[in-house]
Amino acid sequence: MLLHEHISEYCTKFKLPGVLESYQHLADSAAQKKLSYSEYLCKLFEIENSGRELRGREMVLKMAGLPKLKTIDTFDFSSSSVDKTLINEILTLRFIDECKNILLFGPSGVGKTHLATAIAYAVTQQRIKTKFITAGDLMIQLEAASATNRLDNYFKRTIGIPRVLVIDEFGYVKFNETQANLFFQIINKKYETGSIIITSNLSFTKWKEVLNNDEALTTAILDRLIHHSHLINITGESYRLKQKREAGLLDISAK
Ligand code: ADP
Ligand code: MG
Repeated sequence: MLLHEHISEYCTKFKLPGVLESYQHLADSAAQKKLSYSEYLCKLFEIENSGRELRGREMVLKMAGLPKLKTIDTFDFSSSSVDKTLINEILTLRFIDECKNILLFGPSGVGKTHLATAIAYAVTQQRIKTKFITAGDLMIQLEAASATNRLDNYFKRTIGIPRVLVIDEFGYVKFNETQANLFFQIINKKYETGSIIITSNLSFTKWKEVLNNDEALTTAILDRLIHHSHLINITGESYRLKQKREAGLLDISAK
């Protein structure tokens, strides 16, 4: 058997695609540069490692299910009431170690989903498991899991595995009694064990209306969400409308 075939077999066996792809041309350049064997080996490991990290980031990003790829670079702080310092603090991702939640409030179009997505993206780039879901889809999935006796499994995998769970658009869909209870279970499961990022167009005083008008349940949910959290209340008008108005495409004048 040729040396290359041996190496190729070992690389496949030990799952080292980066080594297989790079060892030959790296050997040539190492010879040219008169690198030591140890230096050559270290460079090979570095290539394998960066390939793994890249694949890891890609996999975690895919699993996160972000609706659109939004990053913080495209967020215009100058036209938003959001505190850039706080967002930068959040982007250090310390909140994950502290199991802190992030609650984003504000009317439609002010960038809640953009910010939640950008934070989730930053999390995936550290290869930390994340899941992004709208409150409406979450309910559909929970009910489907419940109907087929897979609720335990759903809680373990979809809710339990990601360290950061993003629930987008809380407030657009009202929950019935069963749904409100399932929602409590999710918040309770993540409380002090992970982080939830939640976006909502509703202030806390209106949450009861979404949660089947159950006062005790609403208090229990809010207690857990707020206990360790960053609260971000975004004020102002819709970014899209503002852009249209500024481009002279709308008749509405801002007050
Ligand atoms: P919300 O979730 O609050 O309803 P979105 O995050 O969906 O709003 O924002 C609506 C659109 O406007 C998106 O395309 C988003 O990228 C954009 N947008 C909102 N605020 C900003 C901002 N400050 N800078 C850049 N784009 C923004
Ligand atoms: Mg949104």
